[in-house]
Amino acid sequence: MNILVLNCGSSSVKFQLINMENEAVVAKGIVEELGRPQSKFKYKANGKEDYVDTTAVADHEAALIKILNILMHPQYGVIVDKREITGIGHRVVHGGSEFASSILIDEQVIDGIRTCIPLSPLHNPANLTGIEVAEKLLSGIPQVAVFDTSHGATLPPEAYTYAIPSKWRDTYKIRRYGFHGTSHSYVAKKAAELLGKPASELRIVTCHLGNGASISAVKFGHCVETSMGLTPLEGLVMGTRSGDIDPAIIPFIGRHEKLTMEEIDAHLNKKSGMMALTGDSDFRIIEERAEKGSAADILALDIYVHRIKKYIGAYAFVMGGLDAIVFTAGIGEKSSYVRSRVLADMEDLGIILDEQANQKNDLHISTGRVKAMVIPTNEELKIARDTKQVLGL
Ligand code: ADP
Repeated sequence: MNILVLNCGSSSVKFQLINMENEAVVAKGIVEELGRPQSKFKYKANGKEDYVDTTAVADHEAALIKILNILMHPQYGVIVDKREITGIGHRVVHGGSEFASSILIDEQVIDGIRTCIPLSPLHNPANLTGIEVAEKLLSGIPQVAVFDTSHGATLPPEAYTYAIPSKWRDTYKIRRYGFHGTSHSYVAKKAAELLGKPASELRIVTCHLGNGASISAVKFGHCVETSMGLTPLEGLVMGTRSGDIDPAIIPFIGRHEKLTMEEIDAHLNKKSGMMALTGDSDFRIIEERAEKGSAADILALDIYVHRIKKYIGAYAFVMGGLDAIVFTAGIGEKSSYVRSRVLADMEDLGIILDEQANQKNDLHISTGRVKAMVIPTNEELKIARDTKQVLGL
């Protein structure tokens, strides 16, 4: 039983074909730079030669045609007929308050995803295009939407309500939604499995530290706090996003620099965070320069680590205790430096870093009462599992 997982961005389509009998990735790849004179197509399949090409791919439909062609290709392919795809799982970024969990896609669901476009103007339109194109090219194969926001659907009102005028909240559905939900819920569940305890007995902080970064508090199996808000801008310092700032900075800088709202929005999302502090968003470069004594990079890493510590401390208090901290995504999985700094000097709170294990990116990196763990995220597998479950397979 094969599930095709599709993650459609504004100019890219990522895919994985997963055999759900053993949860093995049969084939995977990415089509990037859609609509450009040269696109990038990369494909890997079990037991086959890797395939790469740079011919232009006009749009999402052309990308999916390309993906299906290679999946069924005599030399590179892994299936002979489309009907070997049992279901399709789509990553959908914003489900608003409409969707609290993964759902079988029909006309009503498509309309619901469309109504969430104002909440995620960059991502939801691309996700919808992916659904429409898959419906056209793979008609008859059931499709499931898996939302980045549904992990946050269990947030209690005191965590999701902003203290702003009720008209704004009601009219525009402004509240904390949270993102990276598939990743947070995947690693939280995996942590419970690996610790050999039911999720219902654990208070876990999950740190998803990639280009985008967020942190969530999972108390007894349910997300009770998360750092991203109405949009993925709030919370931690990120590659190019500011994370938390005093909201008064926005009108202040608008007045003084004569910037429009759109310009400020673009600055906070694309030209802030580590990029603004160091000129780069790649942690390998930033860590290397900090090691050589670059003051700007050292300060940026101090700020980055400080923000994570602040959130972990707050979330431990919100949950009334802490049993495990999980690090995941590019930086969380690979930066022993960041993990070591975040977990330093926490002995009084039951966290004793095992620096040797940490250096090796081992699963368990602490020896105290609170377990610190490095768990590679697998959002595609979580989407495929949800798809299988929703389809009752
Ligand atoms: P995305 O959010 O785009 O999926 P990833 O989860 O792939 O991002 O994480 C990308 C980040 O991981 C980048 O900042 C990159 O520099 C960082 N990263 C990757 N490998 C390492 C490493 N060995 N050490 C430190 N940071 C790393």
